[in-house]
Amino acid sequence: QPFDSRDGVIWYDGKFVPWADANVHVLTHGLHYASAVFEGERAYAGQIFKMREHNQRLIDSGKLLGFDIPYTVEEIDRACVETLAKQGFEDAYVRPIAWRGSEMMGVAAQNNKIHLAIAIWQWPSYFDPAERLKGIRIDLAEWRRPDPRTIPSKAKATGLYMICTLSKHAAERKGYADALMLDWRGQVAECTGANVFFVKDGVIHTPTPDCFLDGITRRTVIGLAKARGIEVVERAILPEELDGFEECFICGTAAEVTPVSEIAEWRFTPGAITKTLMEDYDAAVRAHVKAVAAE
Ligand code: PMP
Repeated sequence: QPFDSRDGVIWYDGKFVPWADANVHVLTHGLHYASAVFEGERAYAGQIFKMREHNQRLIDSGKLLGFDIPYTVEEIDRACVETLAKQGFEDAYVRPIAWRGSEMMGVAAQNNKIHLAIAIWQWPSYFDPAERLKGIRIDLAEWRRPDPRTIPSKAKATGLYMICTLSKHAAERKGYADALMLDWRGQVAECTGANVFFVKDGVIHTPTPDCFLDGITRRTVIGLAKARGIEVVERAILPEELDGFEECFICGTAAEVTPVSEIAEWRFTPGAITKTLMEDYDAAVRAHVKAVAAE
């Protein structure tokens, strides 16, 4: 079913509107000039995991684009919770998006209203579940993550996703599930919707997020690894080094922890550390369920 004609409601500037009526005008600044920021969150058993961190990042992303979302983080949290309840889902994907409206047309948009909408739908597994277990195949993208002096690369801003869509389409055309992008310096950066990790001799290596999204899942997984006593090294990783890693996995809100078997010519075997972190992540996102059951 297309995404503009579904049942249910969307939270739109403080009110619930029927799903199909949640529209914008064609002269919306956010559409013409990419003045929009968004989040991707997941609810498990009726609870949105790391909701506060995501909604704070939404506000921070808006600030990086020079605008203030006209709601507090508490109000956005409440709106997400109410929308989830209205939609009646237990496990779901939560998509808040904020954008500059249509009061002014042209690059300057100081007087444009900042809108906020929250849509929630069921989005079970980002990658094919059968493929997910044996590890997904990833291509090396031709497009790179930009120099942070050319764009606010820490923002989860729609404009940055042009590079991701180009890379994902090129990868899928060749039969790959996703693409790994290097950064402007040629260092390993991230996938089109997830961060990347490598394992060698029992140690986890992951690129320092200095010009790409520092994922909330990434930070969670680093915490889970450290809690297991596994060493995590954040550093610059060059593509030539991919030869020497035994395991590889990617992680993100939608992707969760997904093992990788191939990146272009490099091969990996999903192993003990990847499996442990997949299980620990599943347990973490559902921890509140066990806590309630234990009462
Ligand atoms: N990088 C990109 C480009 C993404 O779109 C995402 C998904 N939001 C991530 C990394 C992972 O971020 P998070 O763990 O916060 O979902």
